[in-house]
Amino acid sequence: MDANQNQLDKKLADLLKQAAEVAAQMQAQQQGPGTPHFDQIEIPAHEVGQRLSQMIQSTRATDVALEQGQRIKCPDCSKECRVEPTRRQVHSMDGPIELTESVAHCRRCRRSFFPSA
Ligand SMILES: [Zn+2]
Repeated sequence: MDANQNQLDKKLADLLKQAAEVAAQMQAQQQGPGTPHFDQIEIPAHEVGQRLSQMIQSTRATDVALEQGQRIKCPDCSKECRVEPTRRQVHSMDGPIELTESVAHCRRCRRSFFPSA
């Protein structure tokens, strides 16, 4: 791991620790006094993990889409086509996410294509 990766890894560890503390406080408030069953701790903790996963997937997919060039050649006719970011809802293994993808449309061929495909 290089210095930048180490720095990001430490930042992530700090933020996850903060998130874990906030989520635990929220559980304590919602559950009130008394001893909760372990599944009352585990299930909401897992749901927070799924929310984090959805946020990471959506952010990373958007970053990748925005890194695509503005124009790309049509795979059929080689005409230069404009690349547009489009949003759509997809179901990830951790639940629904809003995904941003780059899609190019060739007017000559009347077809859309994904630049990464
Ligand atoms: Zn074309």
